[in-house]
Amino acid sequence: MNYLPTIKQGITDNNLPNEVGQLLSAFNNFDLKEHIKKTGIKKSAALISKAARIGEKIDLQEIEKETLQTVQKIQPNIKIKKFPFYFIYAGSGTDAKSFGGTAVVINLGYYAAQLKGAIKTNNKVPKTVRDQILAASIHEGVHVFLNQLGLSWKHSNQDEIWNIIWEDGLATYMEPTHFGPSTDYYSENNFWLVIISKWLDAKEDSKRKKVIYEALKSKVMKKIGQRQIQAAISSLKRGVKPEDIFTDLLFVSNGPAYHIGRFLWERELAKGKSLHELVEEGSSKVTGWIKHIPST
Ligand SMILES: [Zn+2]
Repeated sequence: MNYLPTIKQGITDNNLPNEVGQLLSAFNNFDLKEHIKKTGIKKSAALISKAARIGEKIDLQEIEKETLQTVQKIQPNIKIKKFPFYFIYAGSGTDAKSFGGTAVVINLGYYAAQLKGAIKTNNKVPKTVRDQILAASIHEGVHVFLNQLGLSWKHSNQDEIWNIIWEDGLATYMEPTHFGPSTDYYSENNFWLVIISKWLDAKEDSKRKKVIYEALKSKVMKKIGQRQIQAAISSLKRGVKPEDIFTDLLFVSNGPAYHIGRFLWERELAKGKSLHELVEEGSSKVTGWIKHIPST
């Protein structure tokens, strides 16, 4: 469902239909009226028009179709149940979500913000934008299918870091193309495997804090994750629970866990088991995957 025309109209009306307002609020607490107040009517109208243009220029039904075909591969023996796709505008901060594994929600505002200039009627949307939207859609689609299969770890109180690495690693592995500076973490996979293994062994808070300080030495994070480093240091000072700090460090802003997780899936698949066999095994073996650190 493409909500961009409705949201664009909402700017003119300075009002949104209730269900759309609730959808945006559920996505990232987005409030259109607030957004207009903060960003100004002209700029918000331009951004929403650009996002709407992306929605017109890209065949969104094709995106849905390709997503379902790709996601089905993680378990070809069980047919994926239909679920909704929502294309929305919700500012520029968050790209996509799966609403706890129930829907694929893509924020075209995120992609509009990255493009310079307006998209004129006869301009094409760059292929890289379509590729990014497809990758995000497949990523969230994997969360939805895992949820249908009863294998999703998101929003469970048994969540532990390795379960999320298993799930988000698979979702990232299934993306046909990988983007952004955060993919640099992929090149640092040995460093992160050591860090996460140490974390799994460290049970007391004092030891866990030491692992966090060690993680902050990541060369890639120093380069592209200064905000995450500052957030972790401030949380350590405030006495936030180490597991919360470590989870944020690994996952916030396309952090290292996605890319290390992808690396782990690639390495396990190279050993010969099929994708759906590994998926069926669930996340229980992933600590073993993490603890296998190649010597260099
Ligand atoms: Zn994810």
